[in-house]
Amino acid sequence: MTVRRLRIQCPHCGVRAIEEFLHGEIPTIPERVVDPDARDLDRAFMHTNAEGLVTERWFHAMGCRRWLTLTRDTRTNDIPERTTSYPPS
Ligand SMILES: [Zn+2]
Repeated sequence: MTVRRLRIQCPHCGVRAIEEFLHGEIPTIPERVVDPDARDLDRAFMHTNAEGLVTERWFHAMGCRRWLTLTRDTRTNDIPERTTSYPPS
């Protein structure tokens, strides 16, 4: 069995191993949830675990120390679209 390791193309540092990055969060709390405590609960425990293309934020902690936004296919770990960063270069 071949284990395929996830690698991320950082616009500043090049292709790097996933271990150099920290996963960030893009909150997707439904607007119908208005109570602050319910929003905190939703944010902490109600993850969608979507199958297919998802937009994610990653922090290059062991590199340029910038936030990256990328689209990843959760079925294959492919990153088909160009990665962007904040702040932009
Ligand atoms: Zn970087």
